[in-house]
Amino acid sequence: MQEFGLLAHSPTMEHMSSTTESLPGTDRSTASKRVLLAAPRGYCAGVDRAVVTVEKALDLYGPPVYVRKEIVHNKHVVTTLEKRGAIFVDETQEVPHGATVIFSAHGVAPIVHEEAKALSLKTIDATCPLVTKVHREAKRFASDDYDILLIGHEGHEEVVGTSGEAPEHITLVQSPDHVDEVEVRDPEKVVWLSQTTLSVDETMETVRRLREKFPKLQDPPSDDICYATQNRQLAVKQMAHETDLMIVVGSRNSSNSVRLVEVALEHGARDGHLVDYADEIDEAWLTGVTTVGVTSGASVPEILVRDVLEFLAERGFDDVVPIVAAEESLLFALPNELRRDLKAKNGANADKVRHDAGSLH
Ligand code: SF4
Repeated sequence: MQEFGLLAHSPTMEHMSSTTESLPGTDRSTASKRVLLAAPRGYCAGVDRAVVTVEKALDLYGPPVYVRKEIVHNKHVVTTLEKRGAIFVDETQEVPHGATVIFSAHGVAPIVHEEAKALSLKTIDATCPLVTKVHREAKRFASDDYDILLIGHEGHEEVVGTSGEAPEHITLVQSPDHVDEVEVRDPEKVVWLSQTTLSVDETMETVRRLREKFPKLQDPPSDDICYATQNRQLAVKQMAHETDLMIVVGSRNSSNSVRLVEVALEHGARDGHLVDYADEIDEAWLTGVTTVGVTSGASVPEILVRDVLEFLAERGFDDVVPIVAAEESLLFALPNELRRDLKAKNGANADKVRHDAGSLH
């Protein structure tokens, strides 16, 4: 896996904090109708790579291309790819013998690779490299015989995949309230890791309580909550106290999108809702509202945000103020298996077609 491009600015968890100072030109008491538009928002590097992977695979191999689980947790992305010939399945066994299957951005447990091999499937692994990083950490600490406390949500695909790397070493910790139940073999040899899309604040509270219980608790080698999750939460924190209503574009099964609504409400937004599409906005939400905050989860194409802005503009919210919390420029190379096949077909131009198929951007 090659990574290229760097974050111009990516705050670490320690540097993230809310602000209660008024943003320039955003005094809620005197403002006319306006929209605060978060940046960054929408697609992260891992989602972009996963979606382009399916698009390229459809172009290259022709439909159908099978995808295990939703490639990313966004209804619009999934239905659009289905129309182009992607078939989404829940389990590897649903894929016909010898067919091509793509693994989603959330990652898979090693057993899934074995299942695919047994069925002679051609696999393309679109696991986000930042999820793969957590898998590697889990393997490494397990091989050093640590107890690993994985902070995350039970049943989430990413947690299932990471846990599958070392099930006998990993204990799931779902929230601060679950810390009391946690038992380890040796409190001198324990480390915490986390799902990439959690609330930074809640995770830090869970870690604080874990450390009270296990003072020798080790931190991960680097932040597991990814840059995209952190940056989107940071932007929301900077806007929330100025907003009467926060609209987060994203799907209900998108962990990072759900967290954005929670973060907004925790940091001062009077009301907040998650919508997949603009037509899900209830006009009643706008009653008495002068400032609407708008953002989107890391799996959301920008076109859906534009629809929301249009909906709001038609109702008088046509003054859009960008709130920029960080600059992002990270880009991941496509999966090696796909790049190899693209190169075989397109020769030296394979890398140049990295972004020419973006109907979902
Ligand atoms: S949210 Fe973070 S971990 Fe998940 S796909 Fe995006 S960059 Fe990767």
